[in-house]
Amino acid sequence: MPCKLAAGNWKMNGLDADLDEVRALIAAHPSPDCGVLICPPATLLAPMANIARGSAILLGGQDCHSDANGAHTGDISAAMLADAGARHVILGHSERRADHAESSDLVAAKARAAHAAGLTAIICVGETEAERDAGTTLDVVLTQLRASLPGGATAANTVIAYEPVWAIGTGRTPTLEQIAEVHDALRANLPDPEMSLLYGGSVKPGNAAEIFALGNVDGALVGGASLKAVDFGGIIAAL
Ligand code: PEP
Repeated sequence: MPCKLAAGNWKMNGLDADLDEVRALIAAHPSPDCGVLICPPATLLAPMANIARGSAILLGGQDCHSDANGAHTGDISAAMLADAGARHVILGHSERRADHAESSDLVAAKARAAHAAGLTAIICVGETEAERDAGTTLDVVLTQLRASLPGGATAANTVIAYEPVWAIGTGRTPTLEQIAEVHDALRANLPDPEMSLLYGGSVKPGNAAEIFALGNVDGALVGGASLKAVDFGGIIAAL
């Protein structure tokens, strides 16, 4: 399995002044043992790329359009993200699926566009609390996985993030057994068994090490705790 990855999703947070957090992170972790990725809002990609140049930090976008270019006001293409310094792009985050009614078919089309632009797609799947309570977690995530993966997805161009919707930003996490059960099922259903599987949902410095120790967990997708260098640094230290 490749080196683990700590991926930070800044969501719709971050202004120019917050770039100091990245400077502080680089100063505190000049040579992290494994992968570190930050996905800032698109407005900060280029300035963050300037700061991260020469460091071990990779950058990513939070979404891209399924078309390569054209009349899509307000959208951003995969090539634009790459041009601004991104190597990855998060696709199908539950907030996009909920706020923008994104289907798994659309996520697959976006992943195709990301691959065409040379980006690694981080495809998110995860059940709602009602789906977990109904006992349909594995059905839901495996259905999302199959429908969201484009043809040609390999470990070299795709990462899967398991993010239970009820654990995102809530401070609640599944038990280690629950995380392991879903990751084991995902691993068994990947088109390429070497593909990295991230866990996401209220990962913090205090719980990162025990989550990373699970066999089929290859890293984390981190929201709130990626915004401050001290918190994200604690997660990086657990890689
Ligand atoms: C996320 O939004 O991808 C996420 C995991 O958020 P948080 O870490 O804040 O739960």
